[in-house]
Amino acid sequence: MLNPAVPLKSAATSPVPVRQPLRPLDEALSELLAMALSLADLERVSTFDADGRVLAEDLISSLDVPGHDNSSMDGYAVRSADLATTDVLQVTQRIPAGSHGHALEPLAAARIFTGAPIPPGADAVVMQEDTEALTDSASVRLLTVPSAGQWIRRQGEDVARGAVVLARGQRLSPAALGLAASIGFAQLQVTRPVRVALFSTGDELVMPGDVAPADMPPGAIYNSNRFFLRAMLKRLGCEVTDLGIVPDRLDATVQALAAASLQHDLILTSGGVSVGEEDHIKPAVQTLGELKLWQLAIKPGKPFAYGRIQSSSADPFAHFIGLPGNPVSSFVTFMLLVRPFVLKLLGVTALAPQAMTAVAQFSWPKADKRREFLRVRQLAGGGLALFDNQSSGVLTSAVWGDGLVDNPPGKTIAPGDVVSYIPFSALLS
Ligand code: AMP
Ligand code: MG
Repeated sequence: MLNPAVPLKSAATSPVPVRQPLRPLDEALSELLAMALSLADLERVSTFDADGRVLAEDLISSLDVPGHDNSSMDGYAVRSADLATTDVLQVTQRIPAGSHGHALEPLAAARIFTGAPIPPGADAVVMQEDTEALTDSASVRLLTVPSAGQWIRRQGEDVARGAVVLARGQRLSPAALGLAASIGFAQLQVTRPVRVALFSTGDELVMPGDVAPADMPPGAIYNSNRFFLRAMLKRLGCEVTDLGIVPDRLDATVQALAAASLQHDLILTSGGVSVGEEDHIKPAVQTLGELKLWQLAIKPGKPFAYGRIQSSSADPFAHFIGLPGNPVSSFVTFMLLVRPFVLKLLGVTALAPQAMTAVAQFSWPKADKRREFLRVRQLAGGGLALFDNQSSGVLTSAVWGDGLVDNPPGKTIAPGDVVSYIPFSALLS
């Protein structure tokens, strides 16, 4: 019987590699993240331009929001106790939003509009629809008896003065920009974008547009990884230098890595990271720096490499991450490892994607020994459907699917089983 530890292809030309045990994902990820020290450089940007950026300061509110008790309805501000004796009140003032009234006299009402401050003495608002204007318009009939506090938004109920409203290390969402603006921040201190050099390896790769589908030579394939990797990096706010396709030669790979290491925080490659003779990433990184080649105990996405390249003694090193060439493996390992790595460089504190439980509406009778990430889709009626072909080359699965089932090693799945589901929305933003 063949010894599975000896890859036949490389046996004749290189020393017999010792197969290392596959690394559990969590172990590799925590080792990887420990090496991703946050970038020190900060930038001040307009709050308008800060969507997706990472806050580098705590935002502390110097005011209450709302600043005053105010009306949440168009209607009449009243003293609720007055309504025990009468249902008709004199209208003695009018308070539109942006102005403020004066103390409300007993048996009086203030005409008030949404957002306007409640006048001193009033303790409730009766909405317009629950009133009847009287012909003299100087008084109003109330058709309901309000309880104290009704339709009043309290001072500070959104934000209390002195509160940390947004914390350092938080990635800014559109709503967070609004919240920062609500406490008066026109500019925000954020970390600078991560600079990434990206290239694909593979002599079989052709760029769409360069060769028409009808003219593709035998064995050629279009470079698909380049497109989604670049897009995913951009979604993380990275500045991407796309170095295109590097041929499957050691000298070319060394040259590309050396060029990429200049002025980049991270070099990201796809392909050539396995242990075949045409896989030059490993020796190339070793020529220029240090490499940790990890075979991860996940499916898809077993081949994965991390290393460091020192371009010159003056420059800091560049991180190197080598992703597998198979498109789905590349896609999945980006989401599971590169995304948190980049976010850590940006100073983000909450790195784990939000997984949820869901009910499988499919069978997975032959589980792998490795932890699997299955491409699935949420069904309108609840539960998850599985894409038929889970091969690591079938990119259709990643478009058809809307997330991954994170399936533990060796676990079969039957319809009705509760599984862990991570939506792509949590992995791609
Ligand atoms: P490799 O990791 O280089 O051995 O490649 C594994 C498989 O992924 C091979 O079938 C390659 O042709 C394919 N592959 C590698 N790079 C790409 C790419 N950029 N786009 C599409 N497929 C690729
Ligand atoms: Mg290759």
